[in-house]
Amino acid sequence: MTRLNVPLLYVPGNHDPELRPIDITWTPPPGFIEPPTAGPEGCINIDGRIVEESGLRVAGLGGSIRYKPGPNQYSQGQMSWRAMKLEIRMRLKPVRDGRKLDVLVTHSPPSAAGEGQDPAHAGFVAFDRLIRRFHPVLAVHGHVHPYGRVRPERQIGTTRVVNVVATRLLEI
Ligand SMILES: [Zn+2]
Repeated sequence: MTRLNVPLLYVPGNHDPELRPIDITWTPPPGFIEPPTAGPEGCINIDGRIVEESGLRVAGLGGSIRYKPGPNQYSQGQMSWRAMKLEIRMRLKPVRDGRKLDVLVTHSPPSAAGEGQDPAHAGFVAFDRLIRRFHPVLAVHGHVHPYGRVRPERQIGTTRVVNVVATRLLEI
């Protein structure tokens, strides 16, 4: 597998297959590098992880609100737990340029973003908390399909919140 010079980081969405290890009772020890999973080849799954790439610290949380049976869906409480685990690890990171997180990558929007007019597209309260506590420069999400309309960028505190469906080129 050839590693590209431009890293492709991603989080799974609610229509993606289960990418986590089958044994969910197993908790990886600190510093454990996950073995490659069945995700897209050459890309880096950052679901529930914090990575440093190209001088940026990037954290990811995949999945949507649970609205039907299937993988990569969570209740608000389950996502809060996932976000809390990420937050604990983030707090141990050194501050760089006045912050501990540069970019938050999620599949669903933060709930304060005002996206998602129906229950399946509701945002996660946990993402609002992460953004307000770590004020990343940028929070990008998908899940809410604008169907041709251009979604305006939103702001939570000092963080730009951008719906990147289907593709967006952003400079930070
Ligand atoms: Zn989705």
